[in-house]
Amino acid sequence: MPNAITIDNLVAAYGNVRAVDKLSLHAAAGEHVVIIGPSGSGKTTLLRCVAGLHRPAGGRIACGERVWDDRTTHVAPEQRQIGMIAQNPGLWPHMTALQHLRFVLRCRGVKRSQRDAQAREMLTLVSMFHRASHRPSELSGGEAQRLALARALIAGSRVLLLDEPLGQLDIALRRELGPVIREVAGRMGATVLHVTHDPADALSLADTVVAVENGVITQVGSPDALRSKPATPFVAQVVRT
Ligand code: ADP
Repeated sequence: MPNAITIDNLVAAYGNVRAVDKLSLHAAAGEHVVIIGPSGSGKTTLLRCVAGLHRPAGGRIACGERVWDDRTTHVAPEQRQIGMIAQNPGLWPHMTALQHLRFVLRCRGVKRSQRDAQAREMLTLVSMFHRASHRPSELSGGEAQRLALARALIAGSRVLLLDEPLGQLDIALRRELGPVIREVAGRMGATVLHVTHDPADALSLADTVVAVENGVITQVGSPDALRSKPATPFVAQVVRT
């Protein structure tokens, strides 16, 4: 499939520190994969490798048939059609919500006459139509993340990398926004790699949960499989919470 992600024997290092150690993982097209692990286990480094921001020391990353990284290949981040959303949504302070999306469409070469309708349609999809003329300083934390999601998807991202996107939101908003991200990304057919510290996010949003500890995968499975047979004390603690 064109936007399935396949990672084989990935090694990523900072000097002598091996942050990711021969890690292999497959995310099917459109799948929502949640990555959990203790702090310092290599989750962010893994996402940065997939984004093309950190060049692996070994192994292979492919998107569909296209190799992004191997011994001889390193596709630049801007050529990967990836959207990355972190705790800080990184919005453009001087632009309204609508202008954010229209700007991205302009960069994609969409005709001026079509930009407004497409941008409004995407704002509707993330329930932000009523905030079209608001700037980031006038948006709540949850609305800002909805706009970041809309911007990533309207940019044509077929792969979404989420690094604790709900991390700074209060619990009620997390529970509300998590399913929105899952639903909207799913509707667009995007493959999602989602790093979270929150066990409830992991177990409620994931098609597949991947536990990473000390740079290696210790368990992969559906939320139910992890619940019924946790492979490590860390996973057992996550599913108990
Ligand atoms: P996580 O996202 O799971 O918290 P990271 O991928 O951030 O883990 O870090 C994995 C390991 O790599 C940790 O041991 C961390 O200290 C180390 N590390 C991360 N970034 C750097 C860096 N820029 N320089 C040196 N070591 C780093």
